[in-house]
Amino acid sequence: MARIPVKPSKPKPPVKSPVRPKTTSPVKVVQKQPKSQPKEEKVSGLSMLQIMRFTPDDTRYRARTEITIKKYNPQAKTRAGFPGVTAICVSDKGKPQRPHKCTIAGKEMGKPISKQKAVVVDCDCPAYVYWGSEWALAQHGAARIKRGNGEAPDARNPAYIPHVCKHLYALMLLVRREGD
Ligand SMILES: [Zn+2]
Repeated sequence: MARIPVKPSKPKPPVKSPVRPKTTSPVKVVQKQPKSQPKEEKVSGLSMLQIMRFTPDDTRYRARTEITIKKYNPQAKTRAGFPGVTAICVSDKGKPQRPHKCTIAGKEMGKPISKQKAVVVDCDCPAYVYWGSEWALAQHGAARIKRGNGEAPDARNPAYIPHVCKHLYALMLLVRREGD
């Protein structure tokens, strides 16, 4: 039998890409801007981190060295359902040791305290009122005046610095360390 030589298939000629005619059209293609993300609700106030930065060094030191935190509840909720953390903070200094109830609540639903743009705090210790924390924090919406008499702390906190007591600072440290 005669063998039919198999023809090598011819290489296909390269397909020329059609040359695009240069457009002289002055019409500019306007690209649609992607729709901006829906803006998050504006929350005014102070975050936990901002309050921590306003807190003086000696308070920070005491928070680190004198406070024991008990009954830490990172899943607390305010009456209105906003997230919060609560704890009983006990100072090793002074006798008898007085436990103080600390709360940090958020203003945004469903967001951990450490990520809240604004928080509302409270501590039932005397220093919190005496050093003008409550009043100064309240000016930023970060506290409610419920322990002090509502007078500006012109003598104890003349710069109205929105800082916290050692109990709240210790709780804030714990929230940052342990998460919430
Ligand atoms: Zn306190």
